[in-house]
Amino acid sequence: MSTAEALQVADVTVKFAGLTALDSVSFTVEPGSVHAVIGPNGAGKSTCFNVLSGVYRATSGSVRLGDAELTGLAPHRIAALGVARTFQNLALPPRATVSDSLLLGRHRLTRTGFLAAGLRLPSAAREARAHLQRVHEIAEFVGLADDLEKPAGVLPYGKQKLVELARALCMEPRVLLLDEPVAGMTADERRATAAVVAGVRDGLGISIVLVEHDMGVVMRLADAVTVLDFGKRIAGGTPAQVQNDPAVVQAYLGA
Ligand code: ADP
Ligand code: MG
Repeated sequence: MSTAEALQVADVTVKFAGLTALDSVSFTVEPGSVHAVIGPNGAGKSTCFNVLSGVYRATSGSVRLGDAELTGLAPHRIAALGVARTFQNLALPPRATVSDSLLLGRHRLTRTGFLAAGLRLPSAAREARAHLQRVHEIAEFVGLADDLEKPAGVLPYGKQKLVELARALCMEPRVLLLDEPVAGMTADERRATAAVVAGVRDGLGISIVLVEHDMGVVMRLADAVTVLDFGKRIAGGTPAQVQNDPAVVQAYLGA
């Protein structure tokens, strides 16, 4: 897994009819770091996330991962270039096991394809075994090893969120986009999830873009923070720097 490339967001503007949701926003996600994007409601965080994952197309500006131009690519192309996101609504059969969910995350990596698998070619069998082994490793890494054969739907909420995260990891990303990963969690689940996210950075060297409301989690996890307000980048730096920035305090208190 090579992580030597930074994710560069340069002068990205997104306009919706009459409204500028992102106004020439720039920031760089350093390889192997957690970069938080924060800001009050309506600041443009989700829009930013949607541009990075290809769901929205920027009106102008660019997004690059190392030398690869991501600007304007469809979500599946961006994913194939190594930028994975979690999906809140896993379109899975309700009784699919965790193992099945994670194997689905590996589909884009399947070389031999369904035809070979259907014909039961030896190459396909070898590949299927390798995928299953990797699924076990990733489940172990995030703490789902004992849950692989359970239907994801019976797991507590915190663990279901870990399934989403593990499924994204199964795509072997270089950058992982997390939109409010601890929203709706208990204090214990928040701590556990934060530890897993830190482990993804430190153990796997994957860069993480974190859109998150929980300031405690942001301050503990983030290496760098970009602060948005009304679509503009109003501050950036380390968590300590932005926490003490008057413009940030002002934005959160409301003018
Ligand atoms: P945040 O996630 O920080 O709360 P959003 O990115 O969701 O902010 O929204 C930023 C602004 O863009 C808001 O004013 C919101 O109403 C607007 N917006 C977001 N998505 C759309 C859309 N698809 N169409 C029109 N306006 C949108
Ligand atoms: Mg949002």
